[in-house]
Amino acid sequence: MTYVAADDRYDTMTYRRTGRSGLRLPAISLGLWHNFGDERAWQTQRDICRRAFDLGVTHFDLANNYGPPPGSAESNFGRILATDLAPYRDELVISTKAGYYMWPGPYGEWGSRKYLITSLDQSLRRMGLDHVDIFYHHRPDPDTPIEESMTALDAVVRAGKALYVGLSNYNSAQTAQAAAILADLGTPLLIHQPSYSMLNRWTEADGLLDTLEQVGAGCIAYSPLAQGLLTDRYLDGIPADSRVRTSVFLNESDLDEPTMATVRALHGVATRRGQSLAQLALAWALRDPRMTSLIIGASSVTQLETNIAALDNLTLTDAELTEIEGHLGA
Ligand code: NDP
Repeated sequence: MTYVAADDRYDTMTYRRTGRSGLRLPAISLGLWHNFGDERAWQTQRDICRRAFDLGVTHFDLANNYGPPPGSAESNFGRILATDLAPYRDELVISTKAGYYMWPGPYGEWGSRKYLITSLDQSLRRMGLDHVDIFYHHRPDPDTPIEESMTALDAVVRAGKALYVGLSNYNSAQTAQAAAILADLGTPLLIHQPSYSMLNRWTEADGLLDTLEQVGAGCIAYSPLAQGLLTDRYLDGIPADSRVRTSVFLNESDLDEPTMATVRALHGVATRRGQSLAQLALAWALRDPRMTSLIIGASSVTQLETNIAALDNLTLTDAELTEIEGHLGA
C-alpha cells in the first residue's frame, strides 16, 4: 500500500538549531550504520524508517561503508526512498560520509580529493539521489593535506551534490583548523559528528563543544547508547539477536563487571525517574543545548519509539546529575 506520512508528524518532535546555521535538526536522528545491511529484513528497515518519519525524525544518517556489506545501507535506504519517502524528499535531511575503507587500491579510503568526490558520486547512485543534505569527511587523514580534503568538501557543495558539509571523528584542534579553511573557502562547517555517551566522554576533555561554539557549528553525537550498553538489553544476559552476538563492533568483553555495575546503577536512576535506561542516557547526552542532535540506532520499531519518547522528559535535576556523575566515576 502506498505510504502516506502521518499528518501529525511535526506535532511533538523537538528541533534544535545546528550551530549558527539556518538548519534545524530533530533532537533525535536515525542512523543506518547497523540494522540496515542486507542481513536485516528489508521490511523491518522500511518499518523503522517510516515510523521515524511519522514521529518527526527528519534526519537519516548514512555513510558509504554502512551495511554489511559496505554500500548496502545506502542501497536499501535508496529503495525505501523510492518506495515510500521520495515524495517527502524536501522534508528530509539525508547525510552520508566518506573516509573509511570502501574499495581496494590507493583511492578507496582516507581524504584525497579523488576518493571523497568519487565516493560521494557512488553514494548518490546507490541512494538514487542527485544531492545529499550533508556530506561528511568521516575521519581525519594524517597523510593528506587538510586543505585538499576541505577543498574537496567545498567542491561538492559548489557542484550541487551536497548542501552542507560536516566532519566526523576530528579532535578539537583539527576541527578548528578545518573550520578556518572551510570559512575561507566560503563553505562554513555545518556540524561535527563525534562519539559521545555516558560511557564515552572524550569530547569533554577535548573541549570540542567549545570549539564548535566558537566556529558556529553544531554537534550531533553518535552511539549515545554506547551501542546498546546503556539500555536494558544486557541487564539479564546477552540476547542472541543483540549487537554483541551479531556484530564485531561490540563484544562480550565490553560487558565487564565494572561497566555492568555502572549500567545497573544508572538503570536504578532511570527507574526512579519513571524512564528506561535508554531514555535517561539520551536525556543526559542532550543536557547541553549546544548538542544539536543524537544519532541513535534501532533494530526494531519498538526501540525507536522508546528512544524518541525520551524527549518527553529531558529535565535532569542537579541532584540527579550529581548522582549520575558519582556512578560514572567522573
Ligand atoms: P546507539 O548507541 O544508539 O546503539 C544502537 C543499538 O542499541 C541498537 O542497534 C540496539 O542494539 C540498541 N538499542 C537501541 N535502542 C534500544 C532500546 N530502547 N532498548 C534496547 N536496546 C536498544 O547507536 P549506534 O552505535 O547504532 O550508532 C548510531 C548511528 O551513529 C549509526 O547508525 C551511524 O549513523 C552513526 N555512527 C557514526 C559513526 C562515525 O564514525 N561517524 C560511528 C558509529 C555510528 P541491538 O542491535 O542489540 O538491538
